[in-house]
Amino acid sequence: MDIFKEYKDILDHAFSAMENAYAPYSNYHVGACVKTKDGKYHIGANVENASYGLSNCAERSALFATYSQGYRKEDIESMALVTGENTLGTPCGACRQVMVELLNGDTPVVIANRQNKAMVTNITELLPFSFTDDNLK
Ligand SMILES: [Zn+2]
Repeated sequence: MDIFKEYKDILDHAFSAMENAYAPYSNYHVGACVKTKDGKYHIGANVENASYGLSNCAERSALFATYSQGYRKEDIESMALVTGENTLGTPCGACRQVMVELLNGDTPVVIANRQNKAMVTNITELLPFSFTDDNLK
């Protein structure tokens, strides 16, 4: 499967979102996009802060934007995450915890870069043995 062909639409939106990254401190630009089953795209970019801990990653930006419009995990078709770096920018630990809450376990998560590297995974693979609402029952 050619991931860049198969997921061209969502990857195009994610790369476009990457251009909006506000990353004056790390200079690490990330774009994300959530595609909902109604055919809409919800983008996010990383937004940093001089108080570093207040920075927000692209994945969370895109997922929070999606949920803020009333969508929920069952409405989400796929998610994409891209960087301009040589390595694939897999999600940080904080984002994985948010993704396990806000995505279905088998929703495709496409991770790609500008150097034609790509992989398709899902949050179950990215965060096995996760802490979820099941732990609170
Ligand atoms: Zn993150």
